Amino acid sequence: MKIDVDVNMRPALINFAENVETTLRKNDHKSGWKHESVNYLDSKLIEEVCEFLLITYNPMEIIQSVAGYLAKASNEGLDKIPRDKRLEEKRKEILDVGAVAMMIFDNTNDDIIPKVDE
Ligand SMILES: [Mg+2]
Repeated sequence: MKIDVDVNMRPALINFAENVETTLRKNDHKSGWKHESVNYLDSKLIEEVCEFLLITYNPMEIIQSVAGYLAKASNEGLDKIPRDKRLEEKRKEILDVGAVAMMIFDNTNDDIIPKVDE
């Protein structure tokens, strides 16, 4: 799926967005996400991250990494953010997730690994 982009976006981000659009279109026969609760979408994100972890690491490495990152985030006070600030912080963190996902997609995009739409 090629996106007609007129803005000054970096090529890696345009390529990522085009591939996300392809993935979304493959699922257009489903009912979409607008009617889904954020809690449900949070669960879907965790499910997809777990799939990513299992194809990337062995289970013991996953447990150690996740425990370590949760402890680090807790030490930084992320679990103590006031309720009225959580949505704003959540939106910042999900942009971090998207940015890092784009970086991984870009750095694994070589001749050996086919693009999503191939
Ligand atoms: Mg972050």
